[in-house]
Amino acid sequence: MRIPHRHFDGKTLTQIYDELYELADGIIKKYNPCKFSNGRCAGGIGCCNGCRYLFSTGCSVKALACKLWICWNLEGTLPECEHELKELSEIAAQYGFLDLCDSRIGRRESKGEVLRRIHR
Ligand code: SF4
Ligand code: SF4
Repeated sequence: MRIPHRHFDGKTLTQIYDELYELADGIIKKYNPCKFSNGRCAGGIGCCNGCRYLFSTGCSVKALACKLWICWNLEGTLPECEHELKELSEIAAQYGFLDLCDSRIGRRESKGEVLRRIHR
C-alpha cells in the first residue's frame, strides 16, 4: 500500500482517524495475524485482556493504535503485514493519534479520547 502524498490534505482529524482505522482494519482482515481459535490468539498474550473496552462481542471502540499494533510474538512472522501497518502508523503518528516511541500512547483509547488528548 502506498498512500499518495498529500492524500489527507484538507480532511479533518476525525475523517483522517476514521480513514486510517478502516485501512488498518482492512490490513488485519487481509493478513489475519492474530489467528484466533477457540478464544486464543497466535501470539498467546491476549493483548486485549483486562481492557475496559473489551466486551464479549469484542472491542467496543475504534482504537486505531490497537489496530496498528502487533505483539512481539508476531514480529517477523508477517513482514508485508508489518510493513503496511508501519506505513499507516507513521501517518497516524504525524497527526498525534499514537506515538512511535511509546506504544502505550493511543492504545486502549477510544477515538474520542484520542481526539480530546490531541486538542488538550
Ligand atoms: S497482537 Fe498478539 S497478543 Fe494481541 S491478539 Fe494478536 S496475537 Fe494475540
Ligand atoms: S481498546 Fe484495544 S486493547 Fe481494548 S479491547 Fe479494543 S483493541 Fe483491545
